[in-house]
Amino acid sequence: MPPHPKKKRTHAKRGWRWSHFFKAPLALSTCAQCHNPKPTHVVCPTCGYYGGREVIVMTPEESAQGA
Ligand SMILES: [Zn+2]
Repeated sequence: MPPHPKKKRTHAKRGWRWSHFFKAPLALSTCAQCHNPKPTHVVCPTCGYYGGREVIVMTPEESAQGA
């Protein structure tokens, strides 16, 4: 027999464990180039700029999608 917990955990004690698994919402900043919301430390998905320079050259249909 493998080791087992002696007693069932109560509803309150289950909450102690699950309190550590909350996923924080994605931190969004504003793009310095196009002022659209974008995730931090990521090339802007709208205009392709990062750190004040163009990293990805966006075609018009790409920037229209916003992806
Ligand atoms: Zn941008």
